[in-house]
Amino acid sequence: MGGELFDFRWRVPVSGYCWVDGEVGAGPAAGEKVRVMMPTHAGAGALEREYKPLAEPALYRTFADVLPTEAALLAFANEWGALGAPEPFNVRLPGRSEPMIGAGGETLFRWEMAVSQVRHAVLLWDMIHERQQALPQHFHVGPDAAGREVILYSSIPVPAGASEGEALCRLRAVRQPDGYLTVRLEVAATVEQQTPLLIQNARRGAFLPAAWAALRRLVNRGLRDGCCPQLVQVAGELRPALRNSAASLIGCLWLQLADAINGNRAPRSCRVCKTWFEVGSGKRTDKEFCSGTCRNRAYRERQEHARQLAAKGKLPREIARELDSDVATVKGWLRTK
Ligand SMILES: [Zn+2]
Repeated sequence: MGGELFDFRWRVPVSGYCWVDGEVGAGPAAGEKVRVMMPTHAGAGALEREYKPLAEPALYRTFADVLPTEAALLAFANEWGALGAPEPFNVRLPGRSEPMIGAGGETLFRWEMAVSQVRHAVLLWDMIHERQQALPQHFHVGPDAAGREVILYSSIPVPAGASEGEALCRLRAVRQPDGYLTVRLEVAATVEQQTPLLIQNARRGAFLPAAWAALRRLVNRGLRDGCCPQLVQVAGELRPALRNSAASLIGCLWLQLADAINGNRAPRSCRVCKTWFEVGSGKRTDKEFCSGTCRNRAYRERQEHARQLAAKGKLPREIARELDSDVATVKGWLRTK
């Protein structure tokens, strides 16, 4: 099947979403109070727009950057849609005296968990790429409850000098100081899979194999819950083809991240507008801007900066040094007023 993806579509109600108070209707948690995100206008006839999440460059990065607050999560949903795993809740809608029974929505906890898991996977991938010196703080080798030696990944860093009590406290925390939920997992699915080599490496301070194993598990867990291979219709063909596809927006975000890892494409943040964009193979790898518009804007800002410095009496030589340019270029800028 390869890594080929099927361009999945997702719908967003034009009138957006809202947070309401609700409670769990059935099951062991019945009656438990929850905050629920619901479409502002539900039901047939509600206006929706459709888009292709996989066509958005690095939407999983945009999601990973969302703060775990009601306001920020709602803003994301209003732009990109719900996660796609609604459950029935009994909710109180504003302006209605009767509670609505079994309305489909997504809890705040579900959203916090989703954003935290994608964020930790992205941060772990970034560490593998750029900050391997930070890896030891996220991996711990030690005996589990049964006394077997395991490697534990923890999203919350435990500094090297931490006392045993402090380390234990951090490893038990549900929420991180930055507000995201913590994620902890044994690096392999079963203790048997934690090959002696993986543990040996970790024991001598080489955490890279364990980091890749943890990233695989984090991403695979997301893929399992929201992605599936499907027979799809491809343009110009009567016979269907097998493709990777998503069943929900959250599945699609995991699929896009997995695809980026597979293609070794770490996206960049535009220096001007901060939008995420991918540097594909064959393109300039020193690309700093998402578009020609942003590149031009950065160029004009540099020229303007040069003129301001000149107006303060600085010499072209000094300006060139300050803006990391050369004297001829700076002189050109100062002439084209
Ligand atoms: Zn830009």
